[in-house]
Amino acid sequence: MRAERIEPVRRILCVFPRYTSSFGTFEHAYPLTDGVQAFMPPQGLLLIAAYLPDNWPVRFIDENIRPASTEDFEWAEAVFVSGMHIQRQQMNDICHRAQAFDLAVAIGGPSVSACPDYYPSFDYLHVGELGDATDELIERLARDPSRPEAQVALTTNERLPMTEFPVPAYELAEIRRYFLGSIQYSSGCPYQCEFCDIPGLYGRNPRIKSPQQIIAELDKLRECGVTGSVYFVDDNFIGNRKAALDLLPHLIAWQKKTGYVMRLACEATLNIAKRPEILEKMREAFFITIFCGIETPDPDALKAMHKDHNMMVPILEGIHTINSYGMEVVSGIIMGLDTDKAETGEALLAFVEESRIPLLTINLLQALPKTPLWDRLARENRLVHDDSRDSNVEFLLPYDQVVDSWRRCMAVAYQPEKLFARYAYQCEYTYANRLKVPVSPELKSWANIKRALIMLRNIFWKVGVRGDYRRVFWKFALARLRRGEIEALIASSLVGHHLITFARDASRGRQNASNYSIRLREASVPAE
Ligand code: SF4
Repeated sequence: MRAERIEPVRRILCVFPRYTSSFGTFEHAYPLTDGVQAFMPPQGLLLIAAYLPDNWPVRFIDENIRPASTEDFEWAEAVFVSGMHIQRQQMNDICHRAQAFDLAVAIGGPSVSACPDYYPSFDYLHVGELGDATDELIERLARDPSRPEAQVALTTNERLPMTEFPVPAYELAEIRRYFLGSIQYSSGCPYQCEFCDIPGLYGRNPRIKSPQQIIAELDKLRECGVTGSVYFVDDNFIGNRKAALDLLPHLIAWQKKTGYVMRLACEATLNIAKRPEILEKMREAFFITIFCGIETPDPDALKAMHKDHNMMVPILEGIHTINSYGMEVVSGIIMGLDTDKAETGEALLAFVEESRIPLLTINLLQALPKTPLWDRLARENRLVHDDSRDSNVEFLLPYDQVVDSWRRCMAVAYQPEKLFARYAYQCEYTYANRLKVPVSPELKSWANIKRALIMLRNIFWKVGVRGDYRRVFWKFALARLRRGEIEALIASSLVGHHLITFARDASRGRQNASNYSIRLREASVPAE
């Protein structure tokens, strides 16, 4: 139960840790923008910030934008931290810095909920979702903000219904510094893919907010200055199909009312291709991208990982169907599966060509705690606890062969000419199917035009003049300029530059082969 006021007042510092350099956070695109410094506003920490008693002052620091300062720590009476496994070392680092000021530090979020033992130094562990553990943490801090003598673990037994979630405190974040806006409608997924920790952490029966909550959140994001893309971070947007169908008319009405200022994106299972009634409404709501965990084009591998639902329609046909509603598919791909063979890498590259998907996050298999994969590999004695490796899985193929294959796939898939050919296809055959939206006063405002001009200047100078793939870039760019496709030119160039740069580093062994690997490379700079 959220308390509006609790005395005495406590000053809470919420700190979000830096990301280790990763394929999915687009950091190589930031220098081409008008000042973006971080990927997405963190939902969890901004939700907790909004849930705290109204009379408690809260400060929010995203260390991807700036590190928490001495002044921040001196101001605070307690510190909250949240994050994913990939941010584990950075979270422990924040804990030590805060405790140097004798502050009590609490950690919540997906990583500690799955693996409390990763965080022995924290004063409070908040395990599970927002709920009775959160209330107890607040009560304890109200009673006594000093550090407890021993670590206190608080586990949520009764979750707060999502319909009672407050609007995340977006106003505390420097929202214009983010690459994408973020929003969450549902939590959980009905499927049980072997490698995935979502059903174990958040349940198989998706919980949802009300459409009115989502509209209020969109209004607030808009008030805070978001005008570009907003990503639904739900694990599976169609985990509850009826809920998706309930929400979409509200999104359509909101977009019409506000002049389509936001482009929407989400994650969903590929079997969404079987639901034209959902796809049509998504098109009308101006969804332009869907991330689908395709994982592999190999049917035997999909069966083995219990992702048979990806085969409800032939994969290429499903992608084509989604494209026909104006939505680009972004795909997750996993290498290092037990079903992989020596020729898996070449088969994957053929799939990349055929699917024309520009952006595929190609990762090595990583076993996450609280997954069926983890349990199986533990039984088979195939979990490797060695942070110098790119995966904690003992593959059936030799480790070096799998990593070399991953590197080759990254190098070939993201050759500039291949990537921009796939983007050119999307411009001509996918984006052409998008809703033709009116140009609202907000979109043609001087502030928005200035933003676009700054990005074009950066792209033309850093890629078109100084870049080493400028010939390929100009072939793509001139075709877009001739057709007046400025938005597609900017978006493809920003993301494309990140993909090309990251893939080059990866193929030279300078990047992690897994988004979940905690291996740190030189590219990950400590926040201090
Ligand atoms: S469909 Fe996606 S979210 Fe659901 S269990 Fe599978 S991988 Fe996880």
